[in-house]
Amino acid sequence: MDAGQADRNSSPDGRLDVTDAGSVAAGRNAGRPFLQVFFRCANKYLHVPRSADGSGYRAMCPLCGKRVNFVIGPGGTPQRFFEISC
Ligand SMILES: [Zn+2]
Repeated sequence: MDAGQADRNSSPDGRLDVTDAGSVAAGRNAGRPFLQVFFRCANKYLHVPRSADGSGYRAMCPLCGKRVNFVIGPGGTPQRFFEISC
C-alpha cells in the first residue's frame, strides 16, 4: 500500500519524499497545505497544493513540462521549498 509504487517509472530525481508535519501546521492557517517549488528553466515559483487524496504534491514545470512528484511519507523532509533543475 505504497502510493509511491506508481511512480517507479519516473526518473530518480523526479520523486522526492516529504513528511506531512510541516503541512499540518500550515493547514491551520491556509486550509490546504502546499509546497513552493522553484523551476530553474522557467525561473518561476509554483505554489503546489496537496493533492486531493492527500498522498502528495504534484508539480509541473510551466516551461519544459518536467513533472515532479512529492510523496508524503515517514522519513521524508520537513522542507516546504524545493528547487528543481530542469
Ligand atoms: Zn523546466
